Amino acid sequence: MRKIIFIICDGIGDRPISSLNNQTPLENAKTPNMDELANKGITGLVQVVDKELYPGSDIAHMSLFGYDLEKYYCGRGPVEVVGIGMELEKGDVAWRCNLATVDSDLVIKDRRAGRISSTKEFVEEFDGTEIEGVRFLIKPSTAYRAVLVLRGGGLSGRVSENDPKAVGEKVLQFEPEDESKEAIFTARIMNEFLERAHNILKKNPLNEKRINEGKLPANYLLCRGAGYVKEIPSVMEKYGMKACCIAGAGLYKGIGRLLGMDLIEVEGASGLPDTDIKAKFLAAKEALKKYDFVFVHVKAADSLAEDGNAEGKRDFIERIDEAMTVLMGLKKEIIVITADHCTPCELKKHSSDPVPALIYFNGIKADSVKKFTEKDCRNGSVGLIKGNELMPKLLELAK
Ligand code: ZN
Repeated sequence: MRKIIFIICDGIGDRPISSLNNQTPLENAKTPNMDELANKGITGLVQVVDKELYPGSDIAHMSLFGYDLEKYYCGRGPVEVVGIGMELEKGDVAWRCNLATVDSDLVIKDRRAGRISSTKEFVEEFDGTEIEGVRFLIKPSTAYRAVLVLRGGGLSGRVSENDPKAVGEKVLQFEPEDESKEAIFTARIMNEFLERAHNILKKNPLNEKRINEGKLPANYLLCRGAGYVKEIPSVMEKYGMKACCIAGAGLYKGIGRLLGMDLIEVEGASGLPDTDIKAKFLAAKEALKKYDFVFVHVKAADSLAEDGNAEGKRDFIERIDEAMTVLMGLKKEIIVITADHCTPCELKKHSSDPVPALIYFNGIKADSVKKFTEKDCRNGSVGLIKGNELMPKLLELAK
């Protein structure tokens, strides 16, 4: 069986942009390596998630890895939690949180508590709180973020958020989103927990210090993305492949861990435009000795597009291509290059346009496509496929 190196260039697909001669950043970029792989391999377009859904990176990745979203997707919260290295258990409910600033009427003054740099000394005071047999585990994440896990049984992820997502509005109460006793129970104990947390945060001496320094106090917890943790088969269980994940940003490490992949940390892999892409590809090449399936995530084309920076996105794509030189000697392994979604610079957000994909290994029967672009891949022999049809295709080729 051939091994697979699966490269996801986040948000690489785009639409024509006037400042780039009406080309997409991928068309405008010089990408000799990707073009060579497209030329010698096969190409196509992938409709990663259904057009009606917003193509969030997490659901898009799960779809590309062949997981049925209806059955296995359990929300953004759990992905964030495993992304910081916390273990989840089936039946947990996980949230992503911000520390925020509210006034005495619980009206939001700042959703990120003045972009506070760490939540550790605030949240550790109520980590482990127990309410009606449920434990509330809260851990710091990056900057003003934290993650919250409810553990204890009888819980539901069908609970609304308390974040009104706007300054000047009062925080919301948690509400059950269905009639089940689990949802009603979870909403009730979340409201109770939030009240306790607010009272503890208000009294934290660090907040008094912050106020004296003219900073905003971190006195409220906003919780979003509740997810009930389901049992998800690992890539090993699903495909019999030993899998690893090479990613800079937390969300993608979380996706990897949720699907049972080993995390390989690479020095210099930051998830930012200055990330060391070559180091990631070298680590991936090395990982092929030990693993059957190597997932490499490259983030920044997406973030640059969200800033509307078309030239920056094009330049970053050229850097990906240059770094790819270290993979060009691979012969037996299948190389896949695709994206989780498009991020058109003019929209500054994800779109559900299909993404280009290329598949190459030495000996594959090439199609007529010569370049790796959105337009060229439309004519590839793979055609237009759905996200969850890509893995079966690769497994067939791997045999
Ligand atoms: Zn993405």
